[in-house]
Amino acid sequence: MAFQNPPGVNDLLPSAAFGVQSAINTASRIFASYGYRYIETPMFERTEVFTRGIGEATDVVGKEMYYVFPMSSVAQLAEGESSSLASLALRPESTAGVARAVVQHNLAQPGAPVVKLWYAGSMFRHERQQKGRYREFRQIGAECIGATEPSADAEVIVMLMAFFEELGIPRSQMVLKVNSMGDEACRPLYRNAVRDFILARPEEFCPECLRRADTNPLRAFDCKNPSCQEVLKAAPRITDYLCDECSTQYALVKELLHTAGLSFEEDSRLVRGFDYYTRTVFEVQVHHGLGAQNAIGGGGRYDKLLEEYGAKPTPSLGFAVGLERIMMVLDSLDAAPQLPPRAKVFIAAVDEEARPAAFILASALRTAGISADLDHQARSLKSQFKVADKLGASFTVIIGPDELAQGCYTLRNMTDHTQQTLNQEELIELLG
Ligand code: AMP
Repeated sequence: MAFQNPPGVNDLLPSAAFGVQSAINTASRIFASYGYRYIETPMFERTEVFTRGIGEATDVVGKEMYYVFPMSSVAQLAEGESSSLASLALRPESTAGVARAVVQHNLAQPGAPVVKLWYAGSMFRHERQQKGRYREFRQIGAECIGATEPSADAEVIVMLMAFFEELGIPRSQMVLKVNSMGDEACRPLYRNAVRDFILARPEEFCPECLRRADTNPLRAFDCKNPSCQEVLKAAPRITDYLCDECSTQYALVKELLHTAGLSFEEDSRLVRGFDYYTRTVFEVQVHHGLGAQNAIGGGGRYDKLLEEYGAKPTPSLGFAVGLERIMMVLDSLDAAPQLPPRAKVFIAAVDEEARPAAFILASALRTAGISADLDHQARSLKSQFKVADKLGASFTVIIGPDELAQGCYTLRNMTDHTQQTLNQEELIELLG
């Protein structure tokens, strides 16, 4: 076929799009009960929003970002005029953009109540395409801005798990992993310890881990190379490096999760890929349906992020979930929302004279909130019945010379094939 979608960028055909829409509706309902408000931020931002927030040495920013530029910049560059094509970038995630917007619009001034925001939309990363890993993918996320207490960490995690359960993923299918990544006081010591550990065994690590030992040694924990993972089993653990404040905060979060009845696994190797994370981090994985890309969502604290955009200290946290992966899990569990039939009622016109009446009745039914459709392809009556079946209509209304003469309609039940004659009022009453 001549025209196809680019690799890693997918069409969401109606049944998949319906699943995504249903998940967004569920998020809206669940998150509202925790006080969250919906926000939309731009699909592209100044690149600096991402380099500052997510970090230049991360894969997402350093390797996977898509830049956005107008043709005029390309022309300028070709003519040797100094111009950068890298000043705007498609968002690879949304926390940075939301944080930027919160600071820009002064939503979280000191003393203000916690700001709770959620979003849904496409993110873009130039990743190597594989099952569950795409270049355009959709995320739903929530951000809890200005919350210092461990109760906020626990609440955000409880909300995330409630959302997954409401979508139809049983708790027994999910593993909640938690960790603390420390803060600016203790994490540098840990980073150095991991760097030293890697550099002391250069022959045991892949070139990529060695290259990043100085810039971002913690990324080694996400290296896909099994031999690197094997060596890292003996690496220093963050839990041994946490300062007193981080340890206490982590302990309180865990206690609250226990109180909420959530089981979780502590995973001292969980170091999420963005620089902005501090202290609590978490990830939800599933056992079945996804293969290697088994994380359906994750997040954590980013106590310093808003300061990067010029705010006063504003401790915050949030999460993002991957909608394509959620749909894959729901499919594997046979729990994906099913697209409803296109029309409850199909209106069949027996001949040309009946067509205007069919058109008018369709409008009346739709106005009454009943989904209705009719023929727009000059089909025979028999062929219209077939279409009604294909559309999954529960009823067909038949309009012919007799019905026109009597000012009534024949209603056919498509399941038991019974028929009755009704006027418009009775029809709407019965179908509504
Ligand atoms: P992150 O923004 O990397 O913390 O990812 C949060 C969630 O988004 C992950 O747990 C995945 O479910 C999903 N996700 C991340 N990257 C991709 C991708 N390239 N394709 C599909 N889903 C993704």
